[in-house]
Amino acid sequence: MSNPSCDIAIIGGGPVGASLALALRDSGLKVYVLEARPANVASHDARALAVSYGSRLLLERIGVWDALHSISPIRTIHISQRHSLGRALLRAAELHVPELGYVLPYPALQDALDSSLQQCGITTIYSANVNRLQHEAEGATIEYQQAGVGCTLTTRLAVVADGGKLLAQDYPPEIRDYGQSALITHITCSAPQADQAYERFTAQGPVALLPFQDGYELVWTAPHALAQDMLAWDETTFLGELQRHFGDRVGEFLSVSQRTCFPLGLKRAPQHSPMPHTVLLGNAAQTMHPVAGQGFNMGLRDAWELAQEILGVTPQELGTPTMLAAYRSQRRTDREGGIHFTDGLVRLFSNDLPLVSAGRAVALSALDCLPFAKRFVAKRMMFGANG
Ligand SMILES: Cc1cc2nc3c(=O)[nH]c(=O)nc-3n(C[C@H](O)[C@H](O)[C@H](O)COP(=O)(O)OP(=O)(O)OC[C@H]3O[C@@H](n4cnc5c(N)ncnc54)[C@H](O)[C@@H]3O)c2cc1C
Repeated sequence: MSNPSCDIAIIGGGPVGASLALALRDSGLKVYVLEARPANVASHDARALAVSYGSRLLLERIGVWDALHSISPIRTIHISQRHSLGRALLRAAELHVPELGYVLPYPALQDALDSSLQQCGITTIYSANVNRLQHEAEGATIEYQQAGVGCTLTTRLAVVADGGKLLAQDYPPEIRDYGQSALITHITCSAPQADQAYERFTAQGPVALLPFQDGYELVWTAPHALAQDMLAWDETTFLGELQRHFGDRVGEFLSVSQRTCFPLGLKRAPQHSPMPHTVLLGNAAQTMHPVAGQGFNMGLRDAWELAQEILGVTPQELGTPTMLAAYRSQRRTDREGGIHFTDGLVRLFSNDLPLVSAGRAVALSALDCLPFAKRFVAKRMMFGANG
């Protein structure tokens, strides 16, 4: 019996892979999604994502936005640095958008995407663990395990959206280890500010408070060993240390929920597609520090622009060098801009050198006072470099 085949096989039905599949739902192409998670099992990923206003517009276009529940808006972002004057406020009203972004739990996004895949009848194979990808003259062959059984699928274009593991050994990404982990949790406090997010730079790494329901989703960056200690602190110690570290802008910290840690770093896959008929998307293409909340937002733009490229060629042209080069060229400015912006922020702000700190204070005040600078930064954060 011959192997099943399709036009496009998406390896990884996470937030980015599933978004690509949905962007292609009316294309008439045979699209398969291979996802390692079992079907109908809720994700337990503890991350909350800050999703930009630009991403909302894309999620509306792919028909997912209305299915999202548990969303909190961000209308103001307060940016400051510890032990220093100078702060900047980005306000939605000044930038003529209703909101700058939204906070939503990763599992809520995943649930909405899974339901939309089902409703649109997109072939999604769950519990499919892809372990091999090989290229052929006219396409690619994918091998995966499902319930202990080895299966094969051939495709004209293989989209690797698995978060970055499948090809990492054979085509190693460029890696920058920041020596930092992010501790994430939900906290409550005595004076939450409605719809206001905080980004506070400190020498040990940034701290972000993202408004969500009765409090904030906290992303507290610290060197790996300290972050592990912070996981074990009792509640009183944790809240006291957070107060000392963040200050009293949102009053007194009152409670903290379960804590989780993620090691952080920059991973950038090789510039060119490592294999013919293959493209890398989302975290598989670039994994970034969450300081600027760019990872999913950038991955969604990857997915949207790849879908436009796919819709612009004939099925015979899928995955050809010309098509892949056009996609890479379309994404280059946004991708490189996002990586450099994020990497630059982490490196510029993660130190206590007096002169650098004074320079940062001036830069933050300038950002606050200069409308064009504010618009530039906010536009980049909301819509990327291709805006
Ligand atoms: C602490 C933290 C905070 C963050 N905050 C933000 C934020 O505020 N805003 C933002 O935009 N981004 C944020 N990010 C980044 C964001 O989480 C990622 O960019 C986003 O999850 C990438 O989605 P993805 O679909 O590319 O990859 P993933 O989310 O990693 O999904 C990959 C999918 O592929 C599946 N898979 C893996 N291997 C296989 C295989 N072999 N076969 C089949 N399926 C497979 C997995 O089960 C999963 O469903 C944050 C990240 C961290 C760590």
